[in-house]
Order: sequence, then C-alpha cells, then structure tokens
Amino acid sequence: MIFSGIVKSSLIDYPGKIATVLFVPGCNYNCFYCHNRKLIEEITDILDPNEIDAFLEKRQGLIDSIVISGGEPTLYDDLPELFRKIKSLGYLTKLDSNGSNPQMIKKLIEEGFVDYFAIDYKAPSSQYSLYCGEECDPSKVLETINILHSSQCPFEVRTTVIPQLTLDNLIQMCQELPKIPRYVLNPYRKPLHYLKEHEGLINATPYSEKEIKEFSEIIKLYQEHVVLMF
Ligand code: SF4
Repeated sequence: MIFSGIVKSSLIDYPGKIATVLFVPGCNYNCFYCHNRKLIEEITDILDPNEIDAFLEKRQGLIDSIVISGGEPTLYDDLPELFRKIKSLGYLTKLDSNGSNPQMIKKLIEEGFVDYFAIDYKAPSSQYSLYCGEECDPSKVLETINILHSSQCPFEVRTTVIPQLTLDNLIQMCQELPKIPRYVLNPYRKPLHYLKEHEGLINATPYSEKEIKEFSEIIKLYQEHVVLMF
C-alpha cells in the first residue's frame, strides 16, 4: 500500500474515538464534488512507509483507531494485510470506501481485522453515473452494503447531500438500501479543485443546514437511524 496523505489526529472520522486517517492515492470513481481530487488524479507526494510504521508504533495507546481512506483503498490488493498489521499494534480499524468492490469487503469481513466500515451511497442508482462518472456500477455498491448488512460487522452508510439530490431522490435512496444502523448525511461543500466540465454541477446552490434537517425528519420514516454531520 502507498499513502499520500495523513491526518494525525481526528475526532470526526471514527464514531466516538480519536483517529489517525491515512489516505491512499487513486480512485475508480470521478465524483464531481470530490475533495481529494489531487489524490485521485496524480500519484505524487508518497509518504515514507518507514515513517508511517514509526508513527503507528509511537502512537500506540495515544490514538484509538486508524482509518484507511482515500482515494479508494479497496483498489489495493494488500489492504487485508495492512489491516492485519494495524490490528496487531492494538488499534481499532476503520475503512472508508465507495463500496465498488464487494469481493474485497467480503474478504475483509471474513478476516476480521476491520472494526468499522463506512460506505458511501451517493445517489439513486439510476443517477449514479451523472455525479460519479460513467464507470460507476451502483449495483456493486448495493451489493457491498447488503453484505455488511448481513454480517455482524458495525458499519455506516454516508450520503453527501449534493444540491442535485431532491427529497424524492433521498427517499428513493433510503428505499433502495436495507435498514442501515447509522445513516450519515453530510452537507455539500464546494471543493477547492474541480474539473472545468463540472463547473455547472459544482456551482449549484447548496442546501442549508435547516433544509437538510427538514429532509432528515422525513427520511427517518424510511431509515430510522439518520445522523447529521454538521
Ligand atoms: S469515491 Fe471518494 S475519492 Fe473517489 S472520486 Fe468519489 S469522492 Fe473522490
């Protein structure tokens, strides 16, 4: 595995725990609102693996958990090995994923070295490619979420409420999903870097926190455990 970014201490990336977040470069999606565009477009500034190892050893007992994020971590075949190693150091572990690789998620569940999964569900399945690129296959994302739903593994599903999603879209998404133990709604924030071709999508007016709260009250009829992240 290679890493091109690190947040050494975070209170928002693992529910209730202090986390270090490691970011892998590369992604198989192209979400117009991606906040890690530099990570998905070019593999530069790779962190020294020896420094990462030293950091993980030094912070044992000070940091509760290590979150592997990106980019898309499931593109790396040695992801299970990484989790095995982090777990052996005594950390809780979490994976952030776009859900595109159900086979990898199945393997990680079977091996048992990931304590918590966060999977994005980005749009109604019929609209996924409009916002995340032609390569997206929402059926794979739903397969991933259904695998987690059938397992004993703690997980959450996350949706960024982009301006293009209507209340009806959010209801539809809730109906496409199985019952989720924690369904997180994130507000849309315009990214610093984006593609020229995405300018129209990027500059749409975001929903206010009040509007998202109102949406959440309605979609609780379909997904009980909605959490707002603002
Ligand atoms: S899946 Fe995540 S990392 Fe990949 S393009 Fe979308 S927002 Fe960016």
